[in-house]
Amino acid sequence: MTDLLLLPGDGIGPEVTAQVRRVAERLAPDLAIDERPFGGTSYDRHGTPLTDEALALAKASKAVLMGAVGGPQWAGVPRDKRPEAGLLALRAGMEVFANLRPALCFEPLADASTLKREVVEGLDIMIVRELIGGIYFGSPRFIEEIPGGKRAVDTQVYTTPEIERIGRVAFELARKRRNKVTSCEKSNVMDSGLLWREVITDLHQRDYADVQLEHMLADNAAMQLVKNPRQFDVIVTDNLFGDILSDEASQLTGSLGLLPSAALGEPGRPGLYEPIHGSAPDIAGKGIANPLAAILSFEMALRWSLDRPDLADRLFAAVGRALEKGARTPDLGGKLTTIQMGEAVLAEL
Ligand code: ATP
Ligand code: MG
Repeated sequence: MTDLLLLPGDGIGPEVTAQVRRVAERLAPDLAIDERPFGGTSYDRHGTPLTDEALALAKASKAVLMGAVGGPQWAGVPRDKRPEAGLLALRAGMEVFANLRPALCFEPLADASTLKREVVEGLDIMIVRELIGGIYFGSPRFIEEIPGGKRAVDTQVYTTPEIERIGRVAFELARKRRNKVTSCEKSNVMDSGLLWREVITDLHQRDYADVQLEHMLADNAAMQLVKNPRQFDVIVTDNLFGDILSDEASQLTGSLGLLPSAALGEPGRPGLYEPIHGSAPDIAGKGIANPLAAILSFEMALRWSLDRPDLADRLFAAVGRALEKGARTPDLGGKLTTIQMGEAVLAEL
């Protein structure tokens, strides 16, 4: 049985996942690792961005780690065969409904002088975004011609069970962190927001009364993230607001090349782990991509799917020490190559 399925994908994906493989082989030699082409690379070889065989293997693995998909060379491919369609099919096929996006500022990077930008020292937020419902998937959804132009309709739908299961993920996470959940919606103007607040409140009273719960309108949350970001521990929110708030929060931390993410389904089902960055066509093939976001995605996989929190702690500490000792790829103001950054982490393990 496969423990970890690697889907290197396109662009810098294969470069950063190669470093994940080295780290995994050193840290957990007993892990059964498998690998399949994915995205544009799979399209070129098999005529589809995600083969049935790869999806079946993903669903039968304990954890799936992907690099990145897409690139200009597949821009002319039919929409349903594009690399990004493969990613959506993978998420849907694996039924991963909870997107976990940490926004964490690594202490050694808090000195803005090397990054040439401001970061929020000590920031440690976990955003829990609902991933397979809401306005991105609701129907009806269409554009039609009307007198004087067109009319476009999107629909936001959420049900009690959908809100409850994402709420549970957030409360469970908070218990392992600083025990605080901020739930974001627009209950002042949206019925789905009203239901969201009601379900989260009920769930809290029923099962998680020990966790501190706060409701915050999403527009206020966007403002508070900039004004006083350290007030947050876990933020739970819907698909659309989560998309926006997690991108906003990531920019408070320094680098795209450092941030991992996880997408989880029901307990016991495999999780999908990926760096938040894309395929970075501008630096692909140059060997200078920062592999830490991918390596930290593996850290999340060890914690949430592979049941090895001890190894996750060791890996997290090793990354911290490597950064402390000054290991920096160009995105962090340094000169290390992707491989050298991987070696810097290996040296600390
Ligand atoms: P996508 O549409 O695939 O999400 P994007 O437009 O968000 O892509 P990215 O591919 O994430 O863009 O890249 C944005 C910028 O960040 C690019 O200049 C890229 O080179 C840089 N970048 C992304 N990931 C890394 C990384 N791991 N290391 C160094 N630089 C990176
Ligand atoms: Mg992007």
